[in-house]
Amino acid sequence: MTQQVVPSAKRFARETPIGRKRRARKMAKVLAETHPDAHCELDFTTPLELAVATILSAQTTDVRVNQVTPTLFKRYVTAADYAAADRAEMEELLRPTGFFRAKTDSLIKLGHALLDKHDGVLPGKLDELVALPGIGRKTANVILGNAFGVPGLTVDTHFRRLTNRFGWVLEEDPVKIEFLVADLIEKRDWTMLSHRVIFHGRRVCHARKPACGACTLAAMCPSYGTGPTEPAAAAKLLKGPRARELAVAAGVDPELVPAAAVAAPEEP
Ligand code: SF4
Repeated sequence: MTQQVVPSAKRFARETPIGRKRRARKMAKVLAETHPDAHCELDFTTPLELAVATILSAQTTDVRVNQVTPTLFKRYVTAADYAAADRAEMEELLRPTGFFRAKTDSLIKLGHALLDKHDGVLPGKLDELVALPGIGRKTANVILGNAFGVPGLTVDTHFRRLTNRFGWVLEEDPVKIEFLVADLIEKRDWTMLSHRVIFHGRRVCHARKPACGACTLAAMCPSYGTGPTEPAAAAKLLKGPRARELAVAAGVDPELVPAAAVAAPEEP
């Protein structure tokens, strides 16, 4: 099984805005089929827990955060618990996530701000969330989309890289990217699209060597050829527990995916 893909950059040079929107929606559909397991990888049971986990996820992996949060969430349950936290004790708990002093500071300040302005309850509105300590627009959209069911686009490093490679945007500013993609994709799909793009970035379209020759989006991607297009070379670059399924979905022989690729940690 080999994939037939026409090298494509020229095909997209004269794309109209409506053409781009149609292509973006087709790509979003293929991403949904490619990554049926896409989800928020941070463990949480309440909006406050998700806010805390998202703050902790800065400069570290979701896996690392999930190792720390079970103990943290037992010790600190309410905004008042965070506000009254013993700084040294919390720093020790957060140490494995890196930047633990700054993160401790953010969580204590978040506890105080929630008590002062929101009766200790995390608000479910973007403007109120971004006014809280430690919560920027990206974090707010993660919280809205995953804890409140309000559609949100999460523009992280993967989302920024991939939407540029997809030719959906030609832009590095996260807020501008958010608005441009919001114009291309239906609102109800924003949250899941964010997860799927991030999964694609972690497992297929890597920063350094994207697996173009084993990518389900190849025929619709102007950046096809940024990474190896030869199936055997590309299959080796797939990562994660579904690496073989990803190869099959792209029309590539799953036997070309080495066992090490399946076991390989995904990009953070
Ligand atoms: S892996 Fe290659 S073809 Fe696939 S989305 Fe990334 S740049 Fe495009």
